[in-house]
Formats: sequence, structure tokens, C-alpha cells
Amino acid sequence: MGATELNASQKDRVGYVRIQDIPVLNQDHCRMRDSQRVERIINEFVCGGPERMQVVSDFDYTITKQRTDDGVAVPSSFGIFNSCKSLPDNFKEEIDKLFHKYHPIEIDPHMPISEKVQYMIEWWTQSGKLATGFAFDLTELDQMTSQFKHALRDGTHELFDALLRLQIPVLVFSAGLGNSVVSLMEQANIMQPNVKVVSNFLRYRDGLLDGFQEPMIHIFNKNETVLEGGEYYELVHTRDHIIVMGDSLGDADMAAGVPSSSHILKIGFLFHHVEANMEKYMNAFDIVLVDDQTMSVPQALLALIDKRHQLRHPHGSNGTAPVQAQLQSASL
Ligand SMILES: [Mg+2]
Repeated sequence: MGATELNASQKDRVGYVRIQDIPVLNQDHCRMRDSQRVERIINEFVCGGPERMQVVSDFDYTITKQRTDDGVAVPSSFGIFNSCKSLPDNFKEEIDKLFHKYHPIEIDPHMPISEKVQYMIEWWTQSGKLATGFAFDLTELDQMTSQFKHALRDGTHELFDALLRLQIPVLVFSAGLGNSVVSLMEQANIMQPNVKVVSNFLRYRDGLLDGFQEPMIHIFNKNETVLEGGEYYELVHTRDHIIVMGDSLGDADMAAGVPSSSHILKIGFLFHHVEANMEKYMNAFDIVLVDDQTMSVPQALLALIDKRHQLRHPHGSNGTAPVQAQLQSASL
């Protein structure tokens, strides 16, 4: 039923949700290019229920905070690995050189993405070559990540608990280092059976590091097209109500590759260079949250979906097919 076709009295009768009744969407730092569109999608989500939902989220500075209360900077998933003490002396030096060569290309506002892609592949390939030929004990990574398990956005645990309870699959999509992502999420107790991490994972050969496993996930191929035809895609592709969350402009395209009939609500966390970036973020995301270090908005959306779901299934039978535990082990 197209929500826009309803008149005011019909909206009241079917429990239509209005933006003005959702407090977190009425805060000053919450911006929307088209609030009517957001309202329409929210109502589709609420009517469709949890069984049609999936969440696709970036990790670095989306699940982790962009700014912590104590001012301590949170490193990226690659940054956590790169700061491990046992890595060879020249490793960090060489990794820094690559950063200074390729990062300006990554953020160059003039170079087309089609041209950037080859440089990003070079960057990731050369990083993989550097992470080759020496021993590395993953328990060192666990020790490093444990220092940052409290640097997740406020409300992250509650959000992930609700997603598990409602059996909603979560894809954490990261062009960073998957080993750090999984380690940090495990230590923070949010690596639940409904969560799948697609990222770059270290590969070992004969006890020594051997670069990264395939396929390479870089900034410009980080979308569901890399999953097409794989097990995870099969498990979730019928879930056509999608919440996408990210802090980089490229994150807005993470659901590219899902059927065009899908309803996608994109939430962007904007922190750096707010004024300069605002227009681009407003064009890329449906909801832009400026210096919001919480999960309040996705939590509020889930609460609405949950509330309607409870009304339909008051006796606890949730009517949803269980999210297969094999989500985590599903290959791409
Ligand atoms: Mg990020």
C-alpha cells in the first residue's frame, strides 16, 4: 500500500508514523533532504516488519565513534593492526609511504572514481605484499582491540541486541582489516550469529603472513555487487527493506546491487568539515547526523518496527524465519 496515497484520517487509522512524532529525527543536528521520503520509507519498514529488514553498516567511525568523550582518538581497523609492536620495523614505514602516496588520490575531488579504482587496487595489493613473510600472532591484535571496545557509538549494544532479537541480518562491510573488526566486535559482545563481516582478512601460509584473502574489498567496490551469487547474498537478497549506515560518502552505495524495488534508508554520520561536506552528504544520504556519536536514530527506527511487530504477534511467536546461524560462515 503506497503510504502517500492515504489521506489524513486513513493515516491515523492504520497507525501511520509521522516524522514529527519521532523525537530523534527532530533534533537540530539531524538533517534530511526530503523528510517526506524518509517518512514514507519508515512506514514501509514498519508495515513490512522485521522479516523484510536487513542492515548494512560500515565499521570504522560508523560502529566506532568519530569523537570519544575523553578525546582519545580511535584508530581505524588497519591502524590498530599497524600499531602492533611485533610487526617488522620497516613495515609501518612502508605502509605510511603508501598512505601518503594513495590517500591524496582517494580524496581527490577532481579524479573520476573509475580512474581511482586502479590506484586503490594498487594500494591494497601493495599493502598485502608488505604484510607477507613474517609471523604474526593474532592474540596481539586482540590485546590492541581490547583497548577500544568501549569506543563504540553509544547504544551500539542495545541496537545489536534488538537486531538479534528481531532476527534481522547485519552485514558489516569494511574496506579495512576484517581481523580487527571481528576482534573488536567480539570483545564488545556484538559479534552475534546474525552478524556477518565482509572485509579484508589476513591470510597465513606455513605459519607466516601471506597478505589478504580474496576478494579484495576496497573503498570503491564496497557494495553488495561483490556478494552477488554468493551464499550471503542468497540468504538476504529477499529482504528488500534496508538500513544503510556509514560515515564516508562511498558508504551510501553499499546496498548497490540489491533489487531496484528495494526500499533503502541511508543514514550518514558527518563529523569532519561539516560545512564543506554538508551538501554532498545531504545528496548521498537520506538522514545526515552531524557529530552524533550514538546509535539513537537506528535504535528509534527499530523500536517502531518492533512495536508494530509486537502488536501483530502479541504472544511471542514472532512469525519470522530464524536467521540462519550459518550467516557468519556463509561464503561470499
Ligand atoms: Mg568508515
